[in-house]
Amino acid sequence: MEWIDHLFAWVSPAIEGDYPHLFELYRYLHANPELSGEEEKTAMRLAAELESAGFQVTSNVGGHGVVALYRNGDGPTIMVRADMDALPVREATLLPYASTVRGRDSEGREVDLMHACGHDIHTTVLVGTARMLMQCRDGWRGTVLLIGQPAEETGKGAERMIKDGLFSRFPRPDSILALHVAPPLPAGMVAYSDGYAMAGCASLELRIRGVGGHGSRPHETKDPVVLAAETVLLLQTVISREIDPMETAVLTVGSIHGGSRSNIIPDDVLLELNYRYFKEKVDRQIRSAIERIAKGAAIASGVPEDRMPLLTTIMTGPPVLNDSRLTSRLSALFSRILGEENVQKVPPMSASDDFSHFGLEEPAIPLFYFFLGASDREKIRKCTKDDISSPGIHNPFFAPAAEPTIRTGVEAMTCAVLDLLAVSEDLLLPETGEIVV
Ligand SMILES: [Zn+2]
Ligand SMILES: [Zn+2]
Repeated sequence: MEWIDHLFAWVSPAIEGDYPHLFELYRYLHANPELSGEEEKTAMRLAAELESAGFQVTSNVGGHGVVALYRNGDGPTIMVRADMDALPVREATLLPYASTVRGRDSEGREVDLMHACGHDIHTTVLVGTARMLMQCRDGWRGTVLLIGQPAEETGKGAERMIKDGLFSRFPRPDSILALHVAPPLPAGMVAYSDGYAMAGCASLELRIRGVGGHGSRPHETKDPVVLAAETVLLLQTVISREIDPMETAVLTVGSIHGGSRSNIIPDDVLLELNYRYFKEKVDRQIRSAIERIAKGAAIASGVPEDRMPLLTTIMTGPPVLNDSRLTSRLSALFSRILGEENVQKVPPMSASDDFSHFGLEEPAIPLFYFFLGASDREKIRKCTKDDISSPGIHNPFFAPAAEPTIRTGVEAMTCAVLDLLAVSEDLLLPETGEIVV
């Protein structure tokens, strides 16, 4: 019997046996979301889980980052990353374990919190994978590095962990894996992209400055509200008129704030911009178009030289690029474990993930990022019939089908890690369903 057949026969019932433990963890994480950079309790719980599974755990790596290490003889080093942060969204799912937690955002405003991006699933899958790998540790050789990453939603966490010595204080990985829930896909399925998986991303603040004054005397002012309105419209021409239609890019002005009363012309207006791209050239083109348009519109409005707009970069992240060798190897593996009908090849997404930072270190470490189906099949069927989309991530109604999602995630991730480790031909597996962790 090939080791892989042996593994397939063992892994699914073993995960089923461990599911009550994982579901209890998932309920806790889901009911206790924490904002980006504040994942204190989540990180503590994750560290405790990984430690009790037998990993050597280091906490507070780049903020609340958790790094769990298990050395098991000679072989490759495989890293798996899960993100841990939640969002300022008021949960509307009515699940028995729905979040009622409130917190404060970076501006000090009180906000409702929810795991609306499914990072609670990712963290649970990481723990499930740890427990499975320890169950069959006599059958593989190598080093496993599992990380709980903070602040993915703000695009800062991966970079901070790297700066805090992720690749120098711990063994340098040969491959890095991650997954993300994908609600349009039924639970039980996975999907992957060959090449680019997620777009590159930049968030910018554009402060449009004018000269304020009385609303009844606009001729004595340089009105930044009108200038902001013009700038927003001009920015809509960047993608539609300047970027090659064969390229993929998107630019959104997501927030506009300025002024205090109807009869006061303010001094400035703040725009928050976000754009996505795949190619470096397109990134440069969009960035320089934003600078040119902001300045050009200000000049055209007669804004004084010393009141030109200020552009500040809040966050940037390159696209997630899947390594071709890992992609073909692991997508074939997924087809064998889950069945070909449960593995989909999908085009790149316009969403982003700061997971891409892990691939920037020279020499580049191969990455593989895949999508995990998370919705109830019946719900998807009904939504398709009614021609509506089922609630996706960042939506207050997002309610993943926990059991099939977590089980498929643990199965896919465990098998992927084992496939990349050095596995002996006679993989030693414990009795089916016997969980001793
Ligand atoms: Zn998200
Ligand atoms: Zn996410």
